[in-house]
Amino acid sequence: MTLPERYRKFQAEARTFCRDIIEPRATMHDLTGTFVDDNVKAMAERGWLGILWPRELGGMGLDYQSYVIAVEEVSRVGAATGLTLAAHTSLGTYPIYKFGTTEQKEKYIPRLARGLYLGSFGLTEPNAGSDAAGIETKAVKTDKGFVINGSKRFITSGSYAGTVIVAATLDRSLGRKGVTCFIVETETPGFKVASAEKKLGLKGSDTAELVFEDMLVPLDSVLGKEYDGYRIFMETLDGGRISIGAFCLGMAQCALDTMIEWFKDRKMTQLESKALADVAVQVEAARLLVYHAAQIKDTGVRVDKECAFAKLFASEVAMWATGVAIDAIGPLAITASMPVARAYRDAKLGEIGEGTSEVMRMIIAKDVIKEAREAC
Ligand SMILES: Cc1cc2nc3c(=O)[nH]c(=O)nc-3n(C[C@H](O)[C@H](O)[C@H](O)COP(=O)(O)OP(=O)(O)OC[C@H]3O[C@@H](n4cnc5c(N)ncnc54)[C@H](O)[C@@H]3O)c2cc1C
Repeated sequence: MTLPERYRKFQAEARTFCRDIIEPRATMHDLTGTFVDDNVKAMAERGWLGILWPRELGGMGLDYQSYVIAVEEVSRVGAATGLTLAAHTSLGTYPIYKFGTTEQKEKYIPRLARGLYLGSFGLTEPNAGSDAAGIETKAVKTDKGFVINGSKRFITSGSYAGTVIVAATLDRSLGRKGVTCFIVETETPGFKVASAEKKLGLKGSDTAELVFEDMLVPLDSVLGKEYDGYRIFMETLDGGRISIGAFCLGMAQCALDTMIEWFKDRKMTQLESKALADVAVQVEAARLLVYHAAQIKDTGVRVDKECAFAKLFASEVAMWATGVAIDAIGPLAITASMPVARAYRDAKLGEIGEGTSEVMRMIIAKDVIKEAREAC
């Protein structure tokens, strides 16, 4: 896909940074399971932890197209770092920027943008994931603030975050209408990191269980309005899905890179040529969908369907392409000497996080029918 000159320049610089800094550490993080802290610092120095936010808030003032290029290039060589960047930006910071008061933005965005700490997003619970309206974490309003009790699981960078956007219910009987989002500082008494998951892939990315025990947060820690949390996290997840699409695109590109590297000096059979050509086409199709969603997002329009297209397609291409690359190359491709072995394991999260593939298909089907009805 041919991008305008300013994006090509950004892409070339991003590629050099990722090749020089992220790639050399990727195998170490995967094998040792150590958090990608060093890469987070390097990205913070580049300004990437505030890539989308205005300069007056400490950000780089760039757009979604640039952001997806950054996430794609990082994930191409180190998906655990790509996920950390995507979750920090789209889930941990975006809701504050979009729904926060001026005071909240001025307090938190500069710290998040400069990388003083990471931002996280706590929605999923043991009994609430796809069915997000089933949240059980409870907030009770008092004169002194809100008292929050409950737990969250699978929270990206939860052990390293300075703030977590926590979704809690003020009234369970109201279902989704009872949900409110809070900006929770992780130093708050009652906030506890209970454990970190050992995962199939993305071993350098932190996935934590968080527990809140009589955690008192100030009245002004409500994000947006009380009882409006469901709308806030749904819109947050839309944007997040573009970055998960970019994260998956990076891993799909890793599969293609590995195949090119392997076959460039070998004579390919007809079957091998077919495999390489099929992967190249699918990766490009995924890129078109991801970039298209980013470009619409940059116009300020809500892009539920396009985000779901991008996330669903890119995640399935990443899973499929990494498998095809391994089949085409053979046993060497599942050793630590080849990045595609890691990408094959890392890619699975793309089909689960921020809405599973089944959920993406439900969103798409609903939207397509709605559009058809409106056109009648
Ligand atoms: C590495 C990792 C990082 C994550 N990071 C975060 C994070 O930062 N913040 C956060 O809040 N969450 C995070 N998550 C959680 C993730 O978003 C959820 O796991 C995901 O939304 C699925 O929810 P669930 O786990 O409750 O699965 P369930 O909702 O229980 O789904 C289980 C299966 O049932 C299917 N299913 C569910 N409902 C339906 C339906 N109505 N129709 C058809 N099929 C259905 C699903 O597609 C899935 O296949 C992370 C998860 C992982 C693995």
